[in-house]
Amino acid sequence: MKFDTVIVGAGISGCVLAERLANENNHKVLIIEKRDHIAGNMYDYYNDEGILIHKYGPHFFRTDKEEIWEYLARFTDWHYYEHKVKSSVQGQLVPFPINLDTYNLVHGTGLSTDEFKVKLEENKFTDSPKNAEEAIINQVGEKFYNLFFKNYSIKQWGRSPKELHADTVKRVPVRLDREDRYQLAKYQGLPSKGYTHLFKNLIKSDNIKFLLNTDYKEVIDGVNYDQLIYTGPLDYYFDFKFGKLEYRSLKFEEKTYTTDSFQEEAVINYPNNYAYTRITEYKKMTGQKHHNTTVHYEYPIEYKRGESDPYYPILNDKNADLKDKYISEATSLENVYFIGRLAEYRYYAMDDAVEAALHLYDTKFSKLKS
Ligand code: FAD
Ligand code: UDP
Repeated sequence: MKFDTVIVGAGISGCVLAERLANENNHKVLIIEKRDHIAGNMYDYYNDEGILIHKYGPHFFRTDKEEIWEYLARFTDWHYYEHKVKSSVQGQLVPFPINLDTYNLVHGTGLSTDEFKVKLEENKFTDSPKNAEEAIINQVGEKFYNLFFKNYSIKQWGRSPKELHADTVKRVPVRLDREDRYQLAKYQGLPSKGYTHLFKNLIKSDNIKFLLNTDYKEVIDGVNYDQLIYTGPLDYYFDFKFGKLEYRSLKFEEKTYTTDSFQEEAVINYPNNYAYTRITEYKKMTGQKHHNTTVHYEYPIEYKRGESDPYYPILNDKNADLKDKYISEATSLENVYFIGRLAEYRYYAMDDAVEAALHLYDTKFSKLKS
């Protein structure tokens, strides 16, 4: 059989492009996926207890862009949910990202927003922090760096924040007021029947076939196709010819408790104690009613090809140089498109990934409609 497009990877990047090409261009699309399921890192399922959990860690959808929200709303209804996180420091749970309440709870003070602002400004020592440690100290000062960020980041990344690019932490703000939502985006929620259900709707066209449990390199030589969209790891496509890009991986320990509620927010961060970084209680995100509750203890681990999954690109100069070499090679290829978190080796939140995929479709493929 002849395919117009082969897509490597059934995550959101690959499946949005499959949906567009199959439904708008009437392309015959083949998706090849290494894992035994669709939905990439957004995959969720009901565990033995009947509780909906996210296999690869907590995924909470947010965007400021109406067009992204509306695009996905064609394939799902939404469970409206605003994510909140607490951090466990000095024996108490305090709001995270740091806000006015966090400051006052840690110091036992009652500062106003204006007074807090003055305190924060005293920390600022540079306009261009050289690394993640400088970026945080510049923003919140040494005390809060040590309490909330230093040990968490060492656990998360397996290296000191000094060795990480400032961008690693730039998505974590500081709030001068008492705002305690993790993100302020206009649209926030989770698909009401789960992410996997959304994906099933996204790729239900008869024009789309998929192969699971298959590394594309095992089969690609025998497939007849015109163009390839690649969402797997950038370095793997090129057989690591310039060297290996580094990733950080995660391991999840799942526990179900015979109680309706385990903790006070969906996510509690543990910067300074334990080997895990955070505990997620899924029912608090999904809104599911159940007499028991399932949590994930999240342990960052070293990434080893074949043994663990590549989750987070590690942002440092060495990896940035390597990435540039691969990207310049990738852009010189004809009829091969690299898109998504692994193939572009960059941190994409889900909405960014959807936006990038729609943008690729609009700029490269929408004119080719048949
Ligand atoms: P992926 O979902 O990784 O999909 C790529 C697919 O390619 C995978 O299924 C993989 O198995 C497949 N593949 C790889 N190699 C091959 C091969 N050789 N052959 C065949 N298939 C292959 N974003 C948010 O917006 N909010 C959140 O709360 C959030 N939480 C997150 C928490 C964690 C722990 C992580 C790791 C990420 C989180 N994200 C979150 C980011 C989100 O997961 C990504 O934006 C999204 O999954 C990117 O989709 P993708 O399709 O680019 O990549
Ligand atoms: N971070 C931290 N302490 C925290 C939460 C985050 O030091 O309690 C740092 C850490 O380096 C992390 C980065 O901020 O990797 C980004 O945090 P975010 O919550 O966005 O991480 P993600 O949701 O991607 O795991």
